[in-house]
Amino acid sequence: MASSKKVHAIGIDLGTTYSCVGVWQNGHVEIIVNDQGKRITPSCVAFTSDQRLIGEAAKNQANRNPTNTIFDIKRLMGRRFSDQTVQSDRKLWPFNVIQDTGDKPKIVVQYKGEEKQFIPEELSAIILEKMKKIAENFLECNVQNVVINAVITVPAYFNDSQRRATMDAGKIAGLNVMRIIDEPTAAAVAYGFEKLTYVREEKNVLLFDLGGGTFDVSVLNINKGVFKVKATTGDTHLGGEDFDNRLLIHFVEQIKRKHKKDISDNPTSIRKLRSACERAKENLSYYTSTTVDVPGLYDSTDFILNITQARFEDLNMDLFERCMGLVTKCLEDARMEKTSIDIVVLVGGSTRIPKVQQMLEDLFDGKELCKGINPDEAVAYGATVQAAKLSGQGNQEILDMVLSDVTPLSLGIKVVGGVMSVVVPRNTVIPTIELEEFTTDKDNQTVVDFEVFEGERAQTKDNYLLGKFTLSGITPAPRQVPKFDVCFEIDANGILNVSAQDRSSGQKKKITVTNEEASLSNDLIKKIIQDAEMYRAQDEECRRKYEARNTLERYAYCMKNAMKNKSITEALPFATKIGIEDEIKETLSWVEDNALPEVAESISRMDDLKSICAPIDSI
Ligand code: ADP
Ligand code: MG
Repeated sequence: MASSKKVHAIGIDLGTTYSCVGVWQNGHVEIIVNDQGKRITPSCVAFTSDQRLIGEAAKNQANRNPTNTIFDIKRLMGRRFSDQTVQSDRKLWPFNVIQDTGDKPKIVVQYKGEEKQFIPEELSAIILEKMKKIAENFLECNVQNVVINAVITVPAYFNDSQRRATMDAGKIAGLNVMRIIDEPTAAAVAYGFEKLTYVREEKNVLLFDLGGGTFDVSVLNINKGVFKVKATTGDTHLGGEDFDNRLLIHFVEQIKRKHKKDISDNPTSIRKLRSACERAKENLSYYTSTTVDVPGLYDSTDFILNITQARFEDLNMDLFERCMGLVTKCLEDARMEKTSIDIVVLVGGSTRIPKVQQMLEDLFDGKELCKGINPDEAVAYGATVQAAKLSGQGNQEILDMVLSDVTPLSLGIKVVGGVMSVVVPRNTVIPTIELEEFTTDKDNQTVVDFEVFEGERAQTKDNYLLGKFTLSGITPAPRQVPKFDVCFEIDANGILNVSAQDRSSGQKKKITVTNEEASLSNDLIKKIIQDAEMYRAQDEECRRKYEARNTLERYAYCMKNAMKNKSITEALPFATKIGIEDEIKETLSWVEDNALPEVAESISRMDDLKSICAPIDSI
């Protein structure tokens, strides 16, 4: 029996600071706006005393609720708590990250007056679910009868466990995750789709992705529809937020100098000014000067601050130069001259900054930059094209397009002396299967440990442990006699499975490393999905409470306005008029005191108010 479910293909760019979703419809990509009319949604989740907020709503209240507003979740995905970067990021975050069992990070928040803990996958799932909902609203689909096939993007340097974590987050969000693809590949696909010629001829493309918190530069080779990442480099702490920070420091100094006030000791003032700086920076991409005006910034005083584009560029020049330096480094890694780059593609919201564009153009001796697709949408655009392809939708050109990714880091096994024995070298095209023979290093060894590492260093202690397993019951023999066939298999999602088979003992024993540690168990995913459903139900309850209260409030104001009308008040008996006015006043003060009352209460008050106000309608 065939399924009657309708299939929709969507692509999601799950960004560190902003996320973006596209859907495939009528042979093209449609980037979808959120409930605020914006094409990108902050990757932000917040918990309050009465509700959960996602995206714009969460970011907007971050100033007031810093410890329960979670951002930068992507920086925690698939990482250990003890990871150096987690430890240094933790110091900068206003929210609390603790160590769970198995060295996993957990985020602790206060929600509805209780302490709640979330793993990073759960929080990313909340964002993904929001993006899914944005797509569903556009498609106006009945959720029961559709399957949402999704492609989610990750940075090219994401390792196996970071990719798995992203896939798990997608599962929790109720998406049918078809594939995880690299962000630069997705952006290149977007342009490839727009200008199909470049899919046919061989081209070298440089992707310059300057986002909110990270900078990534990659060189891709595209040949006959095959996209290959040749090299990728960047800085995980360089992006729009650093430019905001420079502006912030500049203004704090200016206020100190001109107004003799030091606002740096007031976290609220700093946070307000920081938000204003982000807007000012965005304005400076289009105007040569702008004004920052934050009402009651400090000591209830308003400060009107001016900044020119030239000054902004000067404040950030070293950061822009660092980006250009990394472009040169990426070309070196790819062993390419800049003249062999055919196309330079801009990705990421921060590439809207004119100075960045100009410096990059100069670096490539005046080469025109590709900016036909909005830089903050290119990744979601390409992911959507890929989702369509994998769902069997789209034209022949798309169906013919092959996406070939490479392993960003070498993979291998720890051998004697803690040496990394590489099985799959870095930059190997995936999917791939690599076989290698291993043996024992001691006489009569019956047990052998296999430890799988990822990284470029010679010693495994300097690399990243992905998982380990043990082969036991080996027939005792002199060292180097037993033989083990070790197989590394990487699928199209970049997800790795390692197995080993003991050849010498004759017993066909095969063990597969499923990397349990990095990936969530199915039971845990199930539990998290249940939790997510509960949270969703709570959100829905909250929405209904709001709606009932707001309907009551709107009605009360409507009646209040009606009572300003002389022809109405004069037609009413005096006692009725006083009765109505009192009830309206009482209702309005009640809604003011009750931000989130029970639905039944709002409805019963509504009924009371309506019956008392009934004489107005009959006039
Ligand atoms: P991510 O890093 O999450 O992939 P984006 O690529 O969407 O995020 O980039 C977000 C960054 O782009 C933010 O810091 C934002 O302030 C910045 N940005 C957006 N529009 C502009 C603009 N017009 N000028 C300068 N920066 C911008
Ligand atoms: Mg991005």
